[in-house]
This record gives sequence, C-alpha cells and structure tokens, in this order.
Amino acid sequence: MSVLVVGSVAYDGIETPFGKVDRTLGGSATYISLAASYFVNNVRLVGVVGNDFNEQDMDLLKSRNVDLEGLQVDESGKTFFWQGRYHYDLNSRDTLDTQLNVFEKFDPVIPEGYQGSKYISLGNIEPSLQRKVLDQVKDPRYVVLDTMNFWIEGAEEELKKTLSRVNMLIINDSEARELAEEPNLIKAAQLIRDMGPSSLIIKKGEHGALLFTESGVFSVPAYPVVDIFDPTGAGDTFMGGFLGWLADTNDLSDTNLRRGVVFGSVMASYCVEEFGTSRLKNLSRQDITMRYSEFKRISEIPTYNGEL
Ligand code: AMP
Repeated sequence: MSVLVVGSVAYDGIETPFGKVDRTLGGSATYISLAASYFVNNVRLVGVVGNDFNEQDMDLLKSRNVDLEGLQVDESGKTFFWQGRYHYDLNSRDTLDTQLNVFEKFDPVIPEGYQGSKYISLGNIEPSLQRKVLDQVKDPRYVVLDTMNFWIEGAEEELKKTLSRVNMLIINDSEARELAEEPNLIKAAQLIRDMGPSSLIIKKGEHGALLFTESGVFSVPAYPVVDIFDPTGAGDTFMGGFLGWLADTNDLSDTNLRRGVVFGSVMASYCVEEFGTSRLKNLSRQDITMRYSEFKRISEIPTYNGEL
C-alpha cells in the first residue's frame, strides 16, 4: 500500500556531547520517508525546499525510492533551517535557531497521482495545513498525526479539529500531558482518545513507548543502544517505521499495531546511532529483523508457577 508523507524538509545544525554538524539533511518528512522506505517502495513525499537544496540530498531520497513529485522547489528563498543542542540527558534539547524560510509559505498541494494514497503521515506542521492535506486525499485507510507543544499552546482549537479526523496520534509524554491537561499518562491517553483518534502512541524517549487502543495499553522498552550520537529525528523515524509496517501489511489489528510499535522502535534505535540521517541510508532487511527479535528477547517476561 502507498504511503503519503507531508512535513518539513530541512537543513539541521546539531550539537550533541559527542560531536557537531553545521548543516545536514533533516526535517520530519525526510526522516519519516526514509524510515517508511524500508517497508514499502511507494513512499510519496510532499514538502518544500528552497534554492539552496542540493542535488546529493535529492539523490539520497531518490536512492531510497522516495517519490519526489510532491516536493516543491521554491526558488525565492532558502530551505527551512533548524538548529538544536543536546546535553548529556539526550531526552531534552534546546532549540537554538529556527529559520522557516520557504517553509513559512508552505501550501501542501497533493499531486493527483498521490490523492488515492491509503496510509497518510501528517508530520508536524500547522494543524489547519494538516487538514488541508486530508481535504485533498480520497478515502484514506489510516491517518497518523504528529504535533508539538507549539501547536498545542498556540493553535489548540485548530489542532482539535484535526484530531477529530485522524486514526492515530503519536506524541511524546510531555506533549500528551499538556494536550490533555492531565499529569497521569493513562488518564491523559483516555482524554486524548476522546478527542478523536481511536489510538494513541506516547513516546518516552530513552524509556520506550506506550500504545493505547480500545483493547488497552501495550508497552515497549527502548532498545539499549550503546552508542547514541544524535537523537534528532528519532520520533519521526519511529513514525515512519510504524506506518511503513502497517502499509506493507495492510493489517490494522491490535496485534499488528503492536508489531508496528516495535518496528518503529527498531528504526528509531538505528537513527540515533549516527548524526542526522546517516544511519538510515543503507540498512539491510536483516538489520531490521534482527533487532526486532532482540526487542522480543529483551522484553519477554518469564512465566512462573503462579504461586508466591
Ligand atoms: P524529532 O527529533 O523527531 O522531533 O525531529 C527533528 C526534526 O524536526 C529536525 O530534522 C528538524 O528539522 C525538524 N523540525 C524542528 N522544528 C520544526 C518545526 N517547527 N516544524 C517542522 N519541523 C521541525
């Protein structure tokens, strides 16, 4: 099944305790598309870049079979630029600079050939633009949404309208608490599901992720990565792996959503091993399946005879 990805395509400047890059390919749509491309070969990207976007970065996306018909090139300005710094606690980061550039006027136009896409990933952009995407697609099977504090605080009503039209929301724990205005994550999850999405994933950085569906809650640890260099894009990569798996299997059962959460975690665990998108360029199928098995092994709870 086809996957449509809408979001930012960016250049990022990243500083972590382990190194620094001034300018590397990034953006939510980039990470989502690269991760999903390991599961399906018809990932369609809708975004905008400026006159400084270089050929090698186009080629990288093309080398992963990502369809770029929907990637607008706006010659009037530069590509969205984001700069961030991480400290030893890699769960928190400071945004040092955000230059919207051509992204400020981004108007997502979905090419005709993409309008029948069945699996839709709405990366973190203004909630009214996310709805504009939904207005242009015909009969999607599954819509996944990402958002951030900025929209929860600044565009709450718009965000709630968008929430009522999606199947799944993927956010981190602090965003979930803020959106629901509820400190307890289990209660927050119920309140958010009442806003529209039948399912919800709450990411907890190096502590894993929780999946909430009608059948209850499912918990996955984070993979114990030994060499974490750069957490940038881990959340988006998770989303791409999750949706890529669902689109590949076209199975929305609870068990398969759980597998999707593990595949999302597998892809995120690779993403953080190198700076930017480097590690997502040429993984093998075996890398992915092997790490899935390791996830199973590290989270298996042994049975006992039932007596204390
Ligand atoms: P993540 O680490 O999963 O939150 O994703 C990081 C990516 O999000 C980086 O590659 C940035 O280019 C991109 N990003 C940062 N801020 C924004 C924003 N305001 N809108 C869209 N994309 C952003």
